[in-house]
Amino acid sequence: MNKKLVVGNLKMNPVSPVEFGRYLDMLEKETKHKDFAKTEIVVCPPAIYFRQFLDRKFKNVKLGAQNVFWEYQGAYTGEISAGMAKASGAGYSIVGHSERRKYFGENEEAANLKLKAILKNGLRAVLCIGESMEERKGGQTDSVLKSQLKGSLSGIGAGKIECVDIAYEPIWAVGTDKLPTTDEILEAKIIIKKALAEMYPKKRMEKIRLLYGGSVKSYSIGQVCLEPAMDGVLVGRESLEPYEFIKIVKIVDDN
Ligand code: PEP
Repeated sequence: MNKKLVVGNLKMNPVSPVEFGRYLDMLEKETKHKDFAKTEIVVCPPAIYFRQFLDRKFKNVKLGAQNVFWEYQGAYTGEISAGMAKASGAGYSIVGHSERRKYFGENEEAANLKLKAILKNGLRAVLCIGESMEERKGGQTDSVLKSQLKGSLSGIGAGKIECVDIAYEPIWAVGTDKLPTTDEILEAKIIIKKALAEMYPKKRMEKIRLLYGGSVKSYSIGQVCLEPAMDGVLVGRESLEPYEFIKIVKIVDDN
């Protein structure tokens, strides 16, 4: 059976190495001497803090990147490559996050190039997909999720797909405190599974973990993860509080 997965996306936080040090102190306190046997924990801080994270030598918390560029090296000011992230200790990278799409104009083609670079460099990917409220109201959830999946996964063969986890993150739920119902998540899950079944053999598909992301809190884990039987969660704001973040991990791990 696959392990569950809880990913913390710290986004552009905390604001300084000193603050990040405090964050790590608290994360250490919450995870030390604990065995989350059924759950993998990944924290994705800004890349500038990777070394600081690794110096703590966490046994049960892995390091992830929030974003990487698809080229190997060169004149791409401000970017880091998947190879650099891997060589600097990351084991995961998020790709296709709605904030990358919204603020940096990333589309399926960019997500696809990034995904290929992530996999080529031996990282695992957490691919984010999700519909806007307008698309949901217009009855387009199905077609949007399918086309995001098909576009992002184009050219990713069956041999590589097991290194990809997929986070269903309705755009309208990210950073808003709005939550989909369990049934809405179940519907999205069915759409995603159907689309994947058209692309990959069953055996490979079973390895792909399906997460929910968007305003996750410990008190809503039942609704967004346990009841729709998701394989874990992608947590934004709540991962900035180690106590709350690990509370989420514990609930996922215990169920
Ligand atoms: C996210 O960044 O992927 C996210 C889900 O954020 P939040 O939990 O803050 O909505």
